[in-house]
Amino acid sequence: MKYLKEYRDSKLVHGVIDKITRSINHNWIIMEICGGQTHSIMKYGLNQLLPEGIELVHGPGCPVCVTSLEMIDKAHAIASQPGVIFTSYGDMLRVPGSQGDLFSVRASGNDIRVVYSSLDAIKIAQDNPDKQVVFFAIGFETTAPANAMSVLHAQKLGLKNFSLLVSQVRVPPAMHAILGSANNRIQGFLAAGHVCTVMGYWEYVPIAHQYKVPIVVTGFEPVDILQGILFVIRDLEQNIYEVENAYSRVVNYEGNKPAQNIIEQVFVECDQKWRGIGNIPRSGWRLKPELIEYDAEDRFQVGEITPTESPLCISGQILQGLVKPMNCPAFASQCTPESPLGATMVSSEGACAAYYRYGRSL
Ligand code: SF4
Repeated sequence: MKYLKEYRDSKLVHGVIDKITRSINHNWIIMEICGGQTHSIMKYGLNQLLPEGIELVHGPGCPVCVTSLEMIDKAHAIASQPGVIFTSYGDMLRVPGSQGDLFSVRASGNDIRVVYSSLDAIKIAQDNPDKQVVFFAIGFETTAPANAMSVLHAQKLGLKNFSLLVSQVRVPPAMHAILGSANNRIQGFLAAGHVCTVMGYWEYVPIAHQYKVPIVVTGFEPVDILQGILFVIRDLEQNIYEVENAYSRVVNYEGNKPAQNIIEQVFVECDQKWRGIGNIPRSGWRLKPELIEYDAEDRFQVGEITPTESPLCISGQILQGLVKPMNCPAFASQCTPESPLGATMVSSEGACAAYYRYGRSL
């Protein structure tokens, strides 16, 4: 496949590793933002190929992992109501809430369906006019355009039985939170290529300057990731604190303007709770006030919910790059993909799941 096989070529991989080895003179800590990148690093063993002196830590860019426990519990409360068809991406069904997961809610006889996009949920709403159809709109900047489009589409169709349970999050405020923390260890970032495909990378320039960290827009294949690491190392060794683009076959500075316009039509920025991390100012999107009829939280009024997290789970520290999954005492014992205690063990992008699948022998 074009743009895939050539980015997994072992000769190219070792060529970039040689360049990294020749470029590095100090020890550096680099965070890859996206869980998809974490899985590639673990799957291809890239962390084991890198020269000593580079520590990769795993960021909060897994949408399933950072959706707040309170929002998961609200999903359970809404999905349990009679006359509701609750729709969601498949991963979310296995994420533990305070009391079980959405699979257990479905096992109690509630109508919960896996869909591939919010537009599938629109179709379900059209086919079931006597039911309320709710879509669990989680994710980063990558899912926001399609979720926003579903609201505009529902409005155009005059659908009165469709709403979103919104838990949209944004990457730049999370980077501010990590870099501004007293415990921060991160000296350089691999930014998530797919997020930048939508948003461009202009938002990262002030972050690189303010905190003096190089940020490199990076893809997901082995050569992409190593190239991103090479750019970060070169910048760190030369005290260059700028944003570079190592994924130029897909990403440009401005991003996808039509997608950004759709987001602006439907969402406004808001403070958002991140699971295991807490509230991050202006790190989310919610529906605009004039679109409140599509807001499931308003429609179903599930009220105040006090969530209860597993006391064993340290995923918040993992998502901030403070510790690794193996540092969790529950890793691979009380907590496994079959019986997860935290969201980072569930998701296909979760760091704990990546270490369980590819890194248990390390
Ligand atoms: S291994 Fe399980 S309990 Fe430990 S941090 Fe990861 S998800 Fe949480």
